[in-house]
Amino acid sequence: MQSLISVANARALVLERATPLEPETVDLDDAAGRVLAEDARAAVDLPPFPSSAMDGFAVRSADTPGRLRVVARAAAGRPAARPLASGEAAGIATGAVVPEGADAVVPLEQVSDGGDYVDVPAAAASGSHIRPRGGDARVGDTVLAAGSALGSAQVAALAASGIARAVCHRRPRVAVLTTGTELRTPGETLGPGEIYESNGRMLEVALRAAGAIVTRLAPVADDEDAHRASLEQALDADVTVTSGGVSVGPHDLVRRVGATLGVEEVFWGVAMRPGKPLSFAVRGSTLVFGLPGNPVSALVAATLFTVPALRALQGASSPGPEWQPGTLAMPAARSASRDDFLRARVSAEASGAVLHPVFGQESHMIVRAAAADALVHVPAGEGEIAAGTAVLYTRLA
Ligand code: AMP
Ligand code: MG
Repeated sequence: MQSLISVANARALVLERATPLEPETVDLDDAAGRVLAEDARAAVDLPPFPSSAMDGFAVRSADTPGRLRVVARAAAGRPAARPLASGEAAGIATGAVVPEGADAVVPLEQVSDGGDYVDVPAAAASGSHIRPRGGDARVGDTVLAAGSALGSAQVAALAASGIARAVCHRRPRVAVLTTGTELRTPGETLGPGEIYESNGRMLEVALRAAGAIVTRLAPVADDEDAHRASLEQALDADVTVTSGGVSVGPHDLVRRVGATLGVEEVFWGVAMRPGKPLSFAVRGSTLVFGLPGNPVSALVAATLFTVPALRALQGASSPGPEWQPGTLAMPAARSASRDDFLRARVSAEASGAVLHPVFGQESHMIVRAAAADALVHVPAGEGEIAAGTAVLYTRLA
């Protein structure tokens, strides 16, 4: 009998081997979604000059309140107006350089603009509505530390600081190989016993979203020579992901053929439903995921193991998935020996997230699973769990 390892142990064994890939320098246009491998330092002070936070008038605060002579009108993107002498003001736009001598900006709404002069009815506080040079970051400051994930705000912070290229961990190259004589491509006509191939596309979408550069190979028939040729090619990648052929049947060839190609198994069989036959192996630095063929099993195994591994290879410190608390909307059966991962729809209630398992929880039911937006973890245990039980769930993309 096959002995199963726990989900937690399996995850630890995978992540132990998913160490960050080497750094490369990338253009900011290609940095989104990556993780910095080195600190990024500001190339300029930010803002690079004292700038106005409002449309208004730059003044010497000591001159206010009072009537001031307007000696310039300063727009954004122009050199500073000439220094202000006592009794003078300069019209100024948001983002324009505050002229020397001025120590406050009075917003347009608070003055009467007389053309050649401006009336400032109240005293302006020194420094008001001026963004000091370097107030956000100074040249040489660490804008983002190594290990930072680059989302939209982070990419903007790099751009604003004049950083044109970032040193990030390389994206993993992933080969996706589907196995099964029965597999046809949508658009083709199904012959007897044939089905449409769906795991290859599912994995391509999921793994690309996790930052991988994915190559999807043509499905291979359940034939040793065909497996060997395609696996050999797939093993050139940083990560090889296969689907199907990892169970105990006579046509399940992935592990057997893999072994002849030097693939060393780390584990096979995880105490989970669906996804039990998952195998994880290595060849040199290549990580090899043998995902089960049933589409929902492949989806769950990829979500729990392959996607986190890809994120870890890119340097993520918390590679996910992120689990959030919720409650089950209805009772659920559970297994005494395997953790369940139910496909569910999540609804936001006043009491928190409520998980509604979709109808049709069998591992071949990808259409039913496609109605779900969450995966609910029901740990192994005795007896049914009641409606209202606290559970953890993760979002399905
Ligand atoms: P296997 O793990 O190869 O025994 O496959 C288990 C089940 O998943 C069988 O019903 C297969 O026909 C189905 N299956 C295997 N690979 C795929 C695939 N790429 N797309 C859709 N279904 C698949
Ligand atoms: Mg098969």
